[in-house]
Amino acid sequence: MKYALVTGGSRGIGRAACVRLAQMGYHILVNYVNKTDAAEETLELVRQEGQDGELLKFDVSNLEQTRGAIEAWQQAHPDEYIEVLVNNAGIRRDNLMALMPAEDWTTVLQITLNGFYNVTQPILPAMQLHKFGRIINMASLSGLKGLPGQTNYSAAKGGIIGATKALAQEVARRNITVNAIAPGFIKTDMVDGLDEAALKKTIPANRFGKPEEVASLVGYLASPEAGYITGNVISINGGLYT
Ligand code: NAD
Repeated sequence: MKYALVTGGSRGIGRAACVRLAQMGYHILVNYVNKTDAAEETLELVRQEGQDGELLKFDVSNLEQTRGAIEAWQQAHPDEYIEVLVNNAGIRRDNLMALMPAEDWTTVLQITLNGFYNVTQPILPAMQLHKFGRIINMASLSGLKGLPGQTNYSAAKGGIIGATKALAQEVARRNITVNAIAPGFIKTDMVDGLDEAALKKTIPANRFGKPEEVASLVGYLASPEAGYITGNVISINGGLYT
């Protein structure tokens, strides 16, 4: 059995990634933090693809909780390991820097950047031992270009891009690839409240992207065919950024 863990798998891009990886034959570990119903729905979609999976509840920003859940899973599956890790969990708390409460700065960094450490660090040794792994980090256009009103989010996603490039070089010899995906505007709960009609005029493709389009890229980066792509950031943004 091949295992893939998707953080923040209960909805949006994470859910679509779970379904795509299930189509590729993976047993899916759906991480979620509080909405059990939504995570169960993802699992149901995974089962409709003829695969199975399980729910792993932990808050990626909480080191103890995350490590505890991953170690418990590893102890329960001594002969198995997580071959594909999608670090997808993330939030945004937009504000101009001059008005940004410290909590909004810290929380966004805790979930995106510390979350990357908290999940990846305990999973990496088994990938190294088995000499195969795929780590896919959900960055953002905001982390490449910087977006006003998102200093916290741009810093977190920019940090993820740096971490992706560094880790890729540490583990390449072990057949482990580490890449980041930088989506533009994708139609999920995260963009609720944005003025889609106005924003899409700024996008050459004249529309927001779909979670499934990002998930296809996740699937490609997870595949054996993508073994020579590592340390990269791949944009998926309808031509918005070059
Ligand atoms: P979303 O809000 O629908 O999904 C975010 C997921 O992360 C949810 O499942 C949520 O429960 C989970 N999550 C949040 N905090 C968590 C925590 N502490 N522990 C575990 N899970 C947690 O939004 P989405 O668009 O599907 O976002 C997925 C990823 O894509 C995020 O990293 C986001 O920053 C990135 N992204 C999204 C867009 C976009 O336009 N939607 C653009 C660029 C990047």
